[in-house]
Amino acid sequence: MSNEFNVEAKEIIQTENWTPENIIKLLSLPMEDAREILYPAAKEIKEKFVGKKVYFRGLVELSNICAKDCYYCGIRKGNSKLERYTIADEDVLAAVKFAHQNNYASVVIQAGEIASPAFTQKIEELLKKIHAETKGQLHVTLSLGEQSLETYQRWFDAGAHRYLLRIETSNKELYKTIHPQDDTHNFDRRVECLHFLKKVGYQMGSGIMVGFPGQSLEDIANDILFLQKIDIDMCGLGPYIEHEDTPLFERRTELLPLQERFDLTLKTIAILRLMMKDINIASATALQAIDPAGREKALGWGTNVIMPNLTPTEFREGYKLYDNKPCLDEDRTKCQKCLEGRIVMYGHEVGYGEWGDSQHYKKKR
Ligand code: SAM
Ligand code: SF4
Repeated sequence: MSNEFNVEAKEIIQTENWTPENIIKLLSLPMEDAREILYPAAKEIKEKFVGKKVYFRGLVELSNICAKDCYYCGIRKGNSKLERYTIADEDVLAAVKFAHQNNYASVVIQAGEIASPAFTQKIEELLKKIHAETKGQLHVTLSLGEQSLETYQRWFDAGAHRYLLRIETSNKELYKTIHPQDDTHNFDRRVECLHFLKKVGYQMGSGIMVGFPGQSLEDIANDILFLQKIDIDMCGLGPYIEHEDTPLFERRTELLPLQERFDLTLKTIAILRLMMKDINIASATALQAIDPAGREKALGWGTNVIMPNLTPTEFREGYKLYDNKPCLDEDRTKCQKCLEGRIVMYGHEVGYGEWGDSQHYKKKR
């Protein structure tokens, strides 16, 4: 890449002139230039605003039952090959206890999307049990899809603090190409839910998949601007990885190679970090599916949260959102040891015993 172009890239970062065109220029940087320009800038901003600590969120994949049929997702309703499961409350509590005893300070409860009075009540009761089990010392993030304002409020009142709902793409037309055209897969409804979450008072997280068929750099640039505009407190964004039992798999020939999707994700994270300096950004598990140290590598590009998988091993195979999902059979203790080792190797430390709440959220309160 020409020197002239690199000077321009540095200037965009310095002047914080975040137009879509300028973001596209940064996303287009060849990886070796991105390493020289984007990486140190994002690293510096991250360390200045959120520090070098990495916060653990113990991930419990509560259930693979889903009422939706997103074209990219391995646990979509239409995947008849899958045996469906829901983890019993006592097993969830055992995972929560492990997190608490190991000073994780936070857990994430994630599942397919179910919007029914019985499910709402089940989660409400589970939240209360988690609160009682850990004397309210553990912070809980939910990632349970689109729900009504009332449901979000009930779960918040029962003890949930944060909620992650990825917009997936901010381009409404593109959204339609990766979801069925019906009322349950409605872009406007998803945006409305993000507003509900804020209204209730959650630390609100959103994010996108990077590199799915049909997505352009312009789309990603607009996505980053969208996340800034809706003023997220946290972000979970990761590479799209194909799953052979999904409709989107048919379009796999349109995909960038996995390594390029990985690189593009790192550049996206770095730009988001530069634009939203004090939010929490998670290293998505999908990064690890491409590169065993993918999540730790992303720390240097701006992430500060990692979600070690606490799902009992017998259920992990059932929660395969994409092919090559990592750590399918590793138990919690082993995962923690190797993860901590890699985090230290990449120059960071684990913020044990700290909630690691979004600074961005705290400043607004
Ligand atoms: N059902 C909830 C929802 O959709 O918000 C939460 C669970 S869902 C499995 C969590 C995230 O997984 C989605 O937001 C999506 O971005 C991601 N995901 C699904 N399929 C994926 C794939 N093939 N590659 C990468 N990420 C994927
Ligand atoms: Fe269900 Fe979420 Fe997968 Fe869509 S992404 S099919 S809502 S689990």
